[in-house]
Amino acid sequence: MIGIGDAIDRVRAAARILPVERLALANARGRVLAEDVVAAMPLPPFDNSAMDGFALRASGNAIAAGSGFAIDGEQAAGDAARAARGEACEIMTGARMPEGFDSVVPVEDVDVLERDASQRPRRIRLKAEVAPGQHLRRAGEDMPAGTLALQAGIVLDPFACMLLDALGVVEVAVRRRPRVAVFATGRELVADPQRALASGEIRDSNGPYLEARLVEAGAEVVRRATLPDDAATFVAAVREALAVGVDAVVSTGAVSMGRYDFVPEALAMLGADTVFHKLRMRPGKPQLFAMLPKGVLFFGLPGNPISSAVGQRLLVEAALRRMLAMPDETRWRLPLAAELRKKPGLASIQKAALRIHAGGQVRVQPLRGQESFRIAPLREANVWALLPEEGERFAAGTLVEVLPPSHMQAALLGSEGA
Ligand code: AMP
Ligand code: MG
Repeated sequence: MIGIGDAIDRVRAAARILPVERLALANARGRVLAEDVVAAMPLPPFDNSAMDGFALRASGNAIAAGSGFAIDGEQAAGDAARAARGEACEIMTGARMPEGFDSVVPVEDVDVLERDASQRPRRIRLKAEVAPGQHLRRAGEDMPAGTLALQAGIVLDPFACMLLDALGVVEVAVRRRPRVAVFATGRELVADPQRALASGEIRDSNGPYLEARLVEAGAEVVRRATLPDDAATFVAAVREALAVGVDAVVSTGAVSMGRYDFVPEALAMLGADTVFHKLRMRPGKPQLFAMLPKGVLFFGLPGNPISSAVGQRLLVEAALRRMLAMPDETRWRLPLAAELRKKPGLASIQKAALRIHAGGQVRVQPLRGQESFRIAPLREANVWALLPEEGERFAAGTLVEVLPPSHMQAALLGSEGA
């Protein structure tokens, strides 16, 4: 039996980085960037006004309150460059600064002394002093051209896409999505939710769960099936998945010590090399990881719903991250809200709730009902708490490792380091 850290290292070492594909930015949302993006233009692209008001020429000196100006024309957002003329110009937010102007006084900071026939201001007087450069957004002030805008390995979430859209990026290089097949095993399983359960049967909840998590984690689920406890059927299903081309196969069930736990036998029939089977962890001790022919990864997750969810989160997602050339995940370390107990000698991964307390502290609440068949506590859970092998009692306040439900969420809270 090996430990979780060792298991994750072996999974990472076995996973191969996937090829790059080029997509229109609009089709690349949620994908992982495969090449750095350098800003080809400055943001903002030109000096412009931050306010609706009047553009003035301060030329490095403050303009005193009470100063009066004649207004010469207007500059609206979208207007092209305007040659230098006049002493003041009406200007709108986002409008390009006319040549020779460098400061903006907001409309609320002036008295309009005179208007023309169409009610446009012709003369104004400043109610307050104008500092040179005020309310001016300079070209490149947000991001100069040539800046590393986004680094390879990040997820193109809406924040990242906002930046790329502003920069006018047309096409991005992303990693191909890992192609995964999912097989839920167990003759007790009923995949069709319309079908009434016969005696001894249960619904397949692992299959849909894994599919949802895999997609969330950046993968493409190319096959999903619910299979009986029969090695030959399983082998045929895996062979078919290999034939359509997959990077990984994930199965649940049939990896424990029961009479019908046939996955090791099926792997032998497939000519797979088992890398590990059983980890020093709870739940999910019988996790199995093997290499199928042609470098395809095989994850044999145990059937209990929490055991398979944990295997997906710790092992499968570590592999997906490596395939997508994302940096290895850093775990959050947060204080326990209450004492937590576990069995010594086995790492423990527990359903937990990250909560923000009234005083503003974030704490990890261990949840009742840690058995691997219990899915009801997931209603309250929003993270996994990961406790090391050593130790039995962890006092309230102890910093523990915490994992969000999907590795894609792991960057949400930036860490300031140890
Ligand atoms: P196994 O690992 O095959 O021995 O299954 C362990 C437990 O998980 C048994 O109680 C199974 O009925 C249950 N189980 C297995 N597969 C699933 C599944 N796909 N959905 C829900 N429960 C499952
Ligand atoms: Mg089973």
